[in-house]
Amino acid sequence: MTEADKSIQFQYRSPEIEKMPRNELEALQLSKLKTAVGWALRTPHYGRVLPAAGIKSPDDIRSLADIRKIPFTTKEDLRKGFPYGFVSVPLEDVVRLHASSGTTGTPTTIYYNSADLKRWADYMARCITGAGCTKSDVLQNMISYGLFTGGLGMHSGGEEAGLMVIPSAAGNTSRQFKLMQDYGTTVVHSTPSFLLHVEAKMREEGVSRDSIKLKKAFAGAEPYSEDTRRRIEKLLQIDVYNSYGISEMNGPGVAFECQAKDGMHLWEDGYIGEIVDPKTMEPVKDGETGELILTCLCREATPILRYRTRDLTGFYTEPCKCGRTHRRLRRMTGRTDDMLIINGVNVFPTQIEEVVMGMKEVGNNYLIVLEKEGVLDRLIVKVEVGPDIFVDDSRPMNALKEKIRKTLQTTITVNPRVELHESGSLPISEGKAKRVQDNRPKDI
Ligand code: AMP
Ligand code: ZN
Repeated sequence: MTEADKSIQFQYRSPEIEKMPRNELEALQLSKLKTAVGWALRTPHYGRVLPAAGIKSPDDIRSLADIRKIPFTTKEDLRKGFPYGFVSVPLEDVVRLHASSGTTGTPTTIYYNSADLKRWADYMARCITGAGCTKSDVLQNMISYGLFTGGLGMHSGGEEAGLMVIPSAAGNTSRQFKLMQDYGTTVVHSTPSFLLHVEAKMREEGVSRDSIKLKKAFAGAEPYSEDTRRRIEKLLQIDVYNSYGISEMNGPGVAFECQAKDGMHLWEDGYIGEIVDPKTMEPVKDGETGELILTCLCREATPILRYRTRDLTGFYTEPCKCGRTHRRLRRMTGRTDDMLIINGVNVFPTQIEEVVMGMKEVGNNYLIVLEKEGVLDRLIVKVEVGPDIFVDDSRPMNALKEKIRKTLQTTITVNPRVELHESGSLPISEGKAKRVQDNRPKDI
């Protein structure tokens, strides 16, 4: 039975803030926004762009609506500002950095002073406690450590919440089982794709479910569907909580599901979230989907205002059962920049995932390949079958192939070629899954 089925005893780390009335929360946001603008004005980048937009001092922000006077910040701005264009404190006060190399080679780098790290750990701990964990839990952090924020971010939050943290990092699946058995792991942090791999490996290696005490998983860092969540929950018999993080906003701990598992609470005393239409950059109507824009209120060393996350989501309009007043974000459906255009049709990889992961005959991995055939784009969806299905038995195979093809065609209006592969044969990655292989020539 999952937590959602039981009557839940909701837990809070900072109930006075988490359940703060909206008017007080918004007053707190305004005062923190002014502080963040003050920090930003000390950086070379915002020291230039804010005065040009008419914001010369924090007092030029008089209401929360004034946030719209602040220009958006993009990943490109951060790259151009490399290495110190976004730093607002003397470098001797910086105690850590995290960086993501991205695709163009220039890293986007975030610097933290010690107060920043404390605040980040506090938000992260709020997520962990809010997901029902206590000091008696053992957290195995199965995600990359190093420059990526997921490792150290979750690690510090786990310690702050009083859990015992096992810094296992990603990969080495057999060792992960051993750690779970040896130390009685009750909760893991991972990408959803690695969790599916763990489950398949568990069966392959004959690790019995009874030999581990796992109850929960925090899954994030990449988009996944509700079907994938349910699949992991069912196969591993655990509760899976969606975790949203982005390195420009510290990393994990930005928005997280509570025990209700129904949307991710954005910690609005630490981050201001806006949803805009990515074409017009105007706010969408309440509850509608658009691009998430985030302003970091909790980091002095590298303040970032109105960051274009490129993530597509929206806010729930109805309150959560848990009584928190911080609004919830819906599961991300994709990014404005991972949208595929296949013969003129816009397709998000998550739409394909929803179809294949929704079928019980399908295994735990899939790959989207795009090729050019003559002038036309060809979509090939490679799908692993479940472990009980034999690829050389052609009749059920053909039926399954046809079922996937037809369902995809109805959903995305593109007719794909479907290939079935044996369980465990498609490539897996230890970090974020690479679901799309686009082999189309770039200049056509
Ligand atoms: P990074 O800056 O490397 O941490 O990557 C951040 C990006 O990962 C976000 O902008 C999202 O596109 C993606 N991401 C992180 N968590 C989630 C999640 N729970 N659901 C969907 N996408 C996510
Ligand atoms: Zn809630």
